[in-house]
Amino acid sequence: MTLTYADWQQRAADLSLNGSAYIDSRRVASRQGEWLESINPMTGETLTTIAACGIEEIDNAVAVARRTFDTGAWSRAEPTTRRQTLQAIAAAIRDNAEELALLDSLEVGKCIHEALDDVEESALLFDWFGEVQDKCYDQLAPSPSHVQATVVHEPLGVVGAVVPWNFPLHNASVKLAPALAAGNSVVLKPAEESSLSALRLAELATQAGLPHGVLNVVPGYGHIAGEALGRHHDVDALGFTGSTEIGKRFLIYSGESNMKPVWLECGGKSPHLIFDDCPDLDTAVDNAVAGIFTNAGQVCSAHSRLLLQEGIADRFLDALQARISTLVAGDPLDPATMLGPLVSQAQFDKVCEYLAIGKREATLLCGGDTRQIADGRLFVSPTVFTEVASHHRIFQEEIFGPVLTVTRFDEESEGVTLANESQYGLAASLWTSDLGRAHRLCDAIQAGTVTVNGVDAVSPQTPFGGMKQSGIGRDYALTGMHKYMALKTRWIHY
Ligand code: NAD
Repeated sequence: MTLTYADWQQRAADLSLNGSAYIDSRRVASRQGEWLESINPMTGETLTTIAACGIEEIDNAVAVARRTFDTGAWSRAEPTTRRQTLQAIAAAIRDNAEELALLDSLEVGKCIHEALDDVEESALLFDWFGEVQDKCYDQLAPSPSHVQATVVHEPLGVVGAVVPWNFPLHNASVKLAPALAAGNSVVLKPAEESSLSALRLAELATQAGLPHGVLNVVPGYGHIAGEALGRHHDVDALGFTGSTEIGKRFLIYSGESNMKPVWLECGGKSPHLIFDDCPDLDTAVDNAVAGIFTNAGQVCSAHSRLLLQEGIADRFLDALQARISTLVAGDPLDPATMLGPLVSQAQFDKVCEYLAIGKREATLLCGGDTRQIADGRLFVSPTVFTEVASHHRIFQEEIFGPVLTVTRFDEESEGVTLANESQYGLAASLWTSDLGRAHRLCDAIQAGTVTVNGVDAVSPQTPFGGMKQSGIGRDYALTGMHKYMALKTRWIHY
């Protein structure tokens, strides 16, 4: 059944929201009695209050996670049991898709159809990691006849995870599915802006059969709860998604505590190159628009730097502007909406600052204002700046809003240089009919993922992550699970 705007509004009104922490498979209030507000960016209204966990709750959650790890109820569970449990979690996510999508849409202003897609992608991750973990074999190393040397993967113990708000349920699932598949216990701290879907997911996981205490969710402020997790001596590894600035802090936390491995998925400023021999201009334009305006540009791999070869540039920009004019801004709960509000006043202020910087540095092609829809707030019009040079701040800095920069180039080598002139290296996309060029650029562009004749391809089967200051390590695929496992070499002399 396709739900209408009125259906979604009614379902939102019927939701019961619970912002208490989830420790040892129970809802617990913040012991220090501190709460933060979850605010609907569309209306400015407080949705509910969320437990702001302090050091005491983090210690408690880590102790619970350690205890359950040591019992072996999950860490030494049969691989088949783990597979069935993770697949049951995937099924529970699908069964509760509307509720989970609504929680994300209400907390961060995500368009409801995008939120539903994120829910399905989250379920796919639990399916995939559940399925794969009982099909991975360890290794028997070459050794003399009286000795057997094996190399095996073991769960690490307690994994800490700290995630941002832009894809709340999905960001959490990207950490949880592989860490749990590997047999670890987990303590997850969601972002201040978006805790509700992760808390609900933890409840669903328990109902789906995950043993008590294996998954704990501790909402709260980054500089308190996040830092406490990062510095905890009994956390064996830390998976972080968020800004490069905070990612660097986790490296310090680790170095100043127990040297836990820290896996970082950080910021980006992805280039999108359109060559004169682009095989399908209309599709490329659609992808350019989706690549920057999906989730109001609040996407780590947003293709925010459009690099146009001279021969196609004018035609491309005309088509781009026409396509942008069809984007419908509105209430994220309205299925017709394609562009919702930014997540918070702070994010809105930051993006507005970049609009002002862009107007000083470059030429405004469209947008550049804070279009107010009826009763709306925190809306930024889809914005395009042209005549952008590589030294401009709008070319170099991650804006994390619906702002696209356009730079022209003549030669292929010039396009590559522009693409790589960035501290980031998360993703890149390019359009060409020349197979040789496709291969040359896949080699030359410094990014964790390069997509040819498409934009930002992602799947659970392939590693995702960044080069340079976009991060350390890769999520998804077997690499995403093995980073939450220890390699052990066993020598048995007989
Ligand atoms: P952020 O770095 O401000 O926050 C991320 C998380 O870190 C939140 O849970 C926050 O509470 C916590 N945190 C904040 N300050 C902290 C501190 N001092 N110590 C410990 N934890 C702290 O990022 P954000 O604004 O929530 O998210 C946007 C950023 O996330 C962008 O830079 C975006 O590119 C990045 N991101 C990256 C990926 C990826 O896969 N590479 C995916 C999504 C988002």
